[in-house]
Amino acid sequence: MKIAKDCVVSFHYQLSEVGGEALESSEDGVPMAYLHGHGNLLKGLEEALIGLASGDKKSVTLPPEKAYGERRDNAMQKVPIKHLIGKYKRLMPNMLVKVNTEKGPVNARVIKPGKFMVELDTNHPFAGKTLEFAVEIKSVREATEEELAHGHAHGEGGHQH
Ligand code: ZN
Repeated sequence: MKIAKDCVVSFHYQLSEVGGEALESSEDGVPMAYLHGHGNLLKGLEEALIGLASGDKKSVTLPPEKAYGERRDNAMQKVPIKHLIGKYKRLMPNMLVKVNTEKGPVNARVIKPGKFMVELDTNHPFAGKTLEFAVEIKSVREATEEELAHGHAHGEGGHQH
């Protein structure tokens, strides 16, 4: 069957920055599984996969505006360490942390830790990058009713709960 709304797709991918380094790959683990048409993937990637079937390969290039957006200068913030979620023994530059904001928990990267305050970069690590996904479709199946009710894929490569 071909990829369309309400099917569960599992695929391997290699993600790299165009003209740059490899960023992520699923090749060493289980393929990633997602429920198509429910906003579980980057929109541009999801749209590019429509109509593909098991065994198909495709390379999809997404500019920042279709991926994780441009880097924002105002994403640099100094926040009280007590606003971080979870306990950190020692904060180090480049550590990835979660911080509570008015908009809910946000992932951030430590720029400069201080005694009570920490300087964070809340840009997505891939912000500002043009991304290339090399995708190989492993399987396409109809979603179960439970998956449709939850809005995500279950089983290997999907949500485990
Ligand atoms: Zn579920």
